[in-house]
This record gives sequence, structure tokens and C-alpha cells, in this order.
Amino acid sequence: EEWKDRGAAVSIQRHVDSNGNQTHRIVKKGVQDFSFGRTLGEGSYSTVLAATDRQTLTEYAIKVLDKRHIIKEKKVKYVNIEKNTLNRLGDHPGIVRLYYTFQDERSLYFVLDLATGGELLGFVKKLGSFDEECTRFYGAQILDAIEYMHSKGVIHRDLKPENVLLDEHMHVKITDFGTAKLLDLPSQASNADGNTQLDRREQDFANNIGIPNHERANSFVGTAEYVSPELLTDKSACKGSDLWAFGCIIFQLLAGRPPFKAGNEYQTFQKIVNLEYQFPPGFPKVARDLVERLLVLDPTKRLNIENIKSHPFFEGVLWGKRLWKQKAPRLK
Ligand code: ATP
Repeated sequence: EEWKDRGAAVSIQRHVDSNGNQTHRIVKKGVQDFSFGRTLGEGSYSTVLAATDRQTLTEYAIKVLDKRHIIKEKKVKYVNIEKNTLNRLGDHPGIVRLYYTFQDERSLYFVLDLATGGELLGFVKKLGSFDEECTRFYGAQILDAIEYMHSKGVIHRDLKPENVLLDEHMHVKITDFGTAKLLDLPSQASNADGNTQLDRREQDFANNIGIPNHERANSFVGTAEYVSPELLTDKSACKGSDLWAFGCIIFQLLAGRPPFKAGNEYQTFQKIVNLEYQFPPGFPKVARDLVERLLVLDPTKRLNIENIKSHPFFEGVLWGKRLWKQKAPRLK
């Protein structure tokens, strides 16, 4: 029997002896409990492997992070942000879930939902662009996941088609919370912290290096093409910054390229702060209206999530739980 408490690497083993007496044993999950399979991808500080829980035969993606490398490159903070954020976002179908964390001498291990479909970016590249129906479906799932994370006080800050993974049903699983910003949630503060069950030794690992758990508001993070103008001009990110990125993603799915793209980062930033972009011929009119209301320099003047949901582009979408029970449209 397995007790999937977020982040707590434990399972409960039930034992019945010959007299029928039951005993329960709490067992910590570790590397030995999984059989590792193919490599799913490599990050700058990590390798992600497919793995199977030997007991339950459940498949996961395990992100293996090399401790020495992380310390050397001063990335401990980001690893902690990723873990704390994932622990806060334990319960949405559109967000990669963290089941267990553990470590050995060399590595940290994050046991995550396996997204067998890979990155949304791969499909955009393969198909060139999406039609309106597919853009509506994937846009709606991404937005629903953003709404959930914002409700939990999390700003992603690096939304882009590479960070939108797809599961076996071709449904969205948002990932890469290493640069997220955690807002204080006064009403739920104890709850949010309570969910963050850091492994003791890992906590020591973080504390020893003196890294704070929370990211500061004003550090440049994100990927050039999707970065919001307020991050470039005021070095500040807000919930609206994720909606800017969302606008860029809708544009990209339909146009096949992001709205702001130039030869180098500096030129891309120039285009963003000057709102310099063009719709390709044939870009659907309703979608154009939505994008124009999202790619607005002043973040307070952008559509908010409720406005986006009721925009004509998303007409007919069943929001909430029903959205995740729906069959994904065939990508064509
Ligand atoms: P970087 O750290 O350089 O920004 P990254 O964020 O892509 O890179 P990882 O999160 O380690 O690094 O992911 C590495 C690769 O593994 C990615 O290309 C991603 O597509 C794949 N991957 C990550 N998580 C999963 C998952 N849960 N299921 C399937 N594939 C995954």
C-alpha cells in the first residue's frame, strides 16, 4: 500500500502474519525502490529518467540532480524553489506532480509524473503551427493550470512551449518551476508550509549552504522571447507576467513562431519593450483580438484570467474539471 504524500518519500507496508495480525511499517522510498529506464532528457543540472516503482509498477519520471554541480554553480536556491513550489502545487491535472524526493551521497532525486508525450514545442515544430481547435484546447488547458498556480500564490515566470509537457492522453503538464516566484499566502501560510515536507537531510543540505527558500522579486529570470516588458523595465514580475507569456504562446501556436524574436537577446528585448511584432497573414481574427489584449505593455491593462476565459476565442470551452476529462483533438 502506498501513501503518496507530496514530497514525503514514504510508503506504508502492511504485513499480515500467520495468525492474521496486521502490522504496518512506514518505509522510506529510495533509489533502490525504482528501476531506472530510458533517459527522457537532460537539463543543465539534471538528467531526467523514466523509472518504475518496483512495488506498484507505477511509472514516473525521476529527475536526478548532481549535488556537487549544483553547489558549484550556485543553483541550490533554484532547486529549493522548484521543490517548494511543486509541493505547493500538488493537486492539479495540468501540473507535473512531485511524489517523492530522496537523495544519496551524490544526487538529489525528484520523483515526478511521467509526461510521455514530451514537450509541446516538439509538436509545434513538427506541424509548423496548430489550427484554431488545437490552439483553443491547449490554450485552455494551459490557462486552467495557470489559474490554479496563481490561486496557490505561484507565478511561473518562465512559461513557454518547452515547459508545457504532454502526458499519455496528450493533455498538458506544466513543468520547470525552478524560477517560479512564491507569493506569501497569509491565509494559507501554515498549510502551504505544512505541505513542504522537506526530507531532514535535504533541509540540512539547504541550510548548510545558507540559501533562503524564497526567490526575490527582482531578479531576471525567464527566456528572452517570452519575457514580459515589466521584467525588463522594472525588474518586477506579477501574475500578469505569466499572462503575457500566455499571449506569446497563443501567438506561437497559431503562427508557428513566437511574436518577439530577433538575432540576439538584446534585440529581442528591444522588440518586447517597443511592442514590435506582426501577425502573419491569415492569423484568425478572434485570436488576434485575444493576443492584442494580452500583449499590452502595462500589466494592469492586460486581460485577467476571467476575461480570457470569457473571450470569444475560448467560446464553447468547458472549464474546470471537465476540461481534463475531454479527449485531446488530433494534432494536424
Ligand atoms: P534547464 O535546467 O537547462 O533549464 P530543463 O529545465 O529542460 O533544462 P529538466 O527539467 O532536467 O531540465 O528536463 C530535462 C529534459 O527532460 C527536458 O527536455 C524535458 O523535456 C524532459 N522532462 C523533464 N521532466 C519530465 C517529465 N516529468 N516527464 C517527461 N519528460 C520530462
